[in-house]
Amino acid sequence: MGTPVRHFTATAPDGQVFTVNIERDFRFDPYRDSLVCTHCDWSPSLLTMKKIADMAGEHLASVHGADQGLSQQEDEGFRKARLIMLPIVAVLLIVLFVHLRNS
Ligand SMILES: [Zn+2]
Repeated sequence: MGTPVRHFTATAPDGQVFTVNIERDFRFDPYRDSLVCTHCDWSPSLLTMKKIADMAGEHLASVHGADQGLSQQEDEGFRKARLIMLPIVAVLLIVLFVHLRNS
């Protein structure tokens, strides 16, 4: 449904890695983010960015016993897409600016 944009991972004492994703639903404007555990049905409603990290870490620790090495990283595909999009948007703005000045 949503596109994973960020991953929270933590490691259990037995070495198993658990992941909670932030999934972004672009069908909404402004887009809607949701927190989704990849190991169970946990998918709470969201408030702020800071809370999301806390919630993800707490869920991984309390439900899955993964209380070590909590980290978060941007989804690789999403990061690349944004890196490609930024220069395109910048060029479009410059073109628009030049066009407006010349008209
Ligand atoms: Zn879970």
